[in-house]
Amino acid sequence: MSNSFDPVKLARADLKGMEPYDAYYAPGIIRMDANENPHDFPPEVKEYMYSQMGPQFFGRYPDAMARELVNDLATFFGVGTENIMVGNGSDELILNIMLAFGVGRKVHIASPTFSMYGIHARVAGAMPVNVPRDQYFRVDVEAMISSALEEPSVIIICNPNNPTGTETSTDDIAAIAEATNSLVVVDEAYIEFGGQSCIPLLDKHPNLLVMRTFSKAFGLAGMRVGYLLASPKVVKELLRIKQPFNVNSFSQLAARSVLKFRNLFQDRIVIIMNDRIKLDQNLREIPGVSVYPTVANFLFFSTVAPASEVYRYLLEEGVMVRFIGVPGRGDYLRVSVGTESENTFFIDKLKSVLMSKF
Ligand code: PMP
Repeated sequence: MSNSFDPVKLARADLKGMEPYDAYYAPGIIRMDANENPHDFPPEVKEYMYSQMGPQFFGRYPDAMARELVNDLATFFGVGTENIMVGNGSDELILNIMLAFGVGRKVHIASPTFSMYGIHARVAGAMPVNVPRDQYFRVDVEAMISSALEEPSVIIICNPNNPTGTETSTDDIAAIAEATNSLVVVDEAYIEFGGQSCIPLLDKHPNLLVMRTFSKAFGLAGMRVGYLLASPKVVKELLRIKQPFNVNSFSQLAARSVLKFRNLFQDRIVIIMNDRIKLDQNLREIPGVSVYPTVANFLFFSTVAPASEVYRYLLEEGVMVRFIGVPGRGDYLRVSVGTESENTFFIDKLKSVLMSKF
């Protein structure tokens, strides 16, 4: 009987052709492709973390509800603990949002944007609908409202937007939240680098959800900790489908330690923002390069030479950026702000690639 077992026949037909997510693995190369924090995690915070690992730290399950971390976040933002949920990276929270609110429905996504919204929507059996941003990659507020009015479900706006760096005003987001009955998810993964947060709007708009992460400004990408703020009713729906021990003990401790030593991280954020200004200026001075305005820790740009080839040559030279093809709008590159020496290396390599190869 088992000879006729065919997993392909059993598997969901709607996910056929979907590739497993895999980030490029390239030890030794300069990584400017994932918008991570390029500065090492502060050694004093590591020391503090080690000092906090008591007996049975490894042997016992983590606190399923991450109560201490949720408490710290609630205190920090001046909201109730019932307004907060933490996840195994905000990636997990995106999936949870789709599972709780999107299954069988359209999900309205201001595109181009972070690819995981569409992927998690499909995994959850929701239908991603791309609501195109305008020519400057700004959210088209009217188009978003009319898309959502057709079928209320979930709206996703990344602010600042990955990959374009574009800011959306809180007025625009408030207008969308006001005009629809959808859950309006604002992904603020990069907000510590610029742009206005929607957290102050939460009181007034019960259909608003703000998602954040420790992965970018706070240098914890390897630890996988994201969190969201929303009304208690929304959080309750999400907690229902949460994995039991979704954030491990070490990650909970790491996130709490970041909050405790927040000033150290604030200094690093200022360095990254200043380095962004320099990188932006240097990039703009290269002939044939057009750079988009950004408020995040990355820059979105196009080159006169084909972006896919520039990407490949840069990789050969030892620096990795992100290639981004936007259907109907052409090809672009995105570079994350690195350390000062990485930024210089990248600019030098880009100049030499553009001069010697095209
Ligand atoms: N949202 C956006 C906009 C991102 O760019 C990323 C990471 N690339 C994430 C969420 C996921 O972050 P996390 O590490 O918290 O899962």
